[in-house]
Amino acid sequence: MKGRKPIIAGNWKMYKTAAETRAFVSEFIGMLSNRTLKCEVVLAPPFTSIHSAVTGTAGTSIGIAGQNLHWENDGAFTGEVSGPMLKEAGCSHVIIGHSERRQLFGDTDETINLKIDAALRNDLIPIFCLGETLQEREAGITFEVVTRQLTAGLGAISFSDAESFIIAYEPVWAIGTGKTASPEQAQEIHAFLRNELRLLRGSEFSDSVRILYGGSVKPDNACSLMNCEDIDGGLVGGASLKASDFLGIIKEGTEKD
Ligand code: PEP
Repeated sequence: MKGRKPIIAGNWKMYKTAAETRAFVSEFIGMLSNRTLKCEVVLAPPFTSIHSAVTGTAGTSIGIAGQNLHWENDGAFTGEVSGPMLKEAGCSHVIIGHSERRQLFGDTDETINLKIDAALRNDLIPIFCLGETLQEREAGITFEVVTRQLTAGLGAISFSDAESFIIAYEPVWAIGTGKTASPEQAQEIHAFLRNELRLLRGSEFSDSVRILYGGSVKPDNACSLMNCEDIDGGLVGGASLKASDFLGIIKEGTEKD
């Protein structure tokens, strides 16, 4: 018994217009009717679809996440969106440090630390992503890389509420590739991260914080991954775009032993 409520979060990346979001949400909520969820569910649509997602899920427990934010509250930062803007739009969560942002849009450990601070300052739950590339895994430096990302991302930010903080371990080689980490590979890193968190923030925090796995999670591998002792749910990309697959992951990942 882990004693931590699992979370299944869908990262829609740059998919789904506002109209497509409305259609997904109405189909998904229809599928959920009369079902008592054993997990928290979060959807992260593109910025322009947040309004549709928030209005479509009103009255449910589904959380809505931004996929990124700027660390300042406002300013001359063309193209950026801030914490207060996400909060006002109805977001409860925000994804920070996704590998696509690290690799394609210049996010660094330092800016990720600033963004986590901005999220917490604005009462948004960060979903802090980290993970090694294939090259790093093959070079045998996975533990070193995730320790650096974790330590730098948390930095000196002072907070202790583990319920309001989520970590997502996403090996970059497993994202969108169809290659999933085996449950043993994923559990090894999750247990390592939890121990690092104990050293950094104490046992109370590390025992309670949810650590999600991300990387080609599908209905047919969700159960074996989510049943691992230190895996507390999933951050799901591709398979979150289809309501039936996303629900399949929720059922397989959080309702089966
Ligand atoms: C992701 O984008 O965070 C992700 C894990 O994608 P996928 O599930 O498609 O690998």
